[in-house]
Amino acid sequence: MKEPKKPKEPPNIDIYRAWCKGCGICAAFCPTGVLARDEAGYPYVQDIDKCINCGWCEIRCPDFAITVEQKKRRERRTKEEREKERPAREVTSG
Ligand code: SF4
Ligand code: SF4
Repeated sequence: MKEPKKPKEPPNIDIYRAWCKGCGICAAFCPTGVLARDEAGYPYVQDIDKCINCGWCEIRCPDFAITVEQKKRRERRTKEEREKERPAREVTSG
């Protein structure tokens, strides 16, 4: 089976504590050890750089308490990058 490609920048892992029951399924299914559990059993992000954006934690959570949010590419672009992408304005003389 093909390995999922690692994105250039890791996503945000949003854990909604009010819905989480600390069952540990998300951490157990995470294939790269991004998620760990605290003393009470609740998950927390231990090492976001290891995230391969597979979505298993979100898919497997029975309470919809964890979400994998890809950071918006647009927000990460610098001003210089945006300028480069802008089409050059035609100069007309006349
Ligand atoms: S699978 Fe969902 S409910 Fe269970 S610990 Fe993870 S976030 Fe919480
Ligand atoms: S998206 Fe995949 S690698 Fe990232 S935290 Fe969730 S299960 Fe782990």
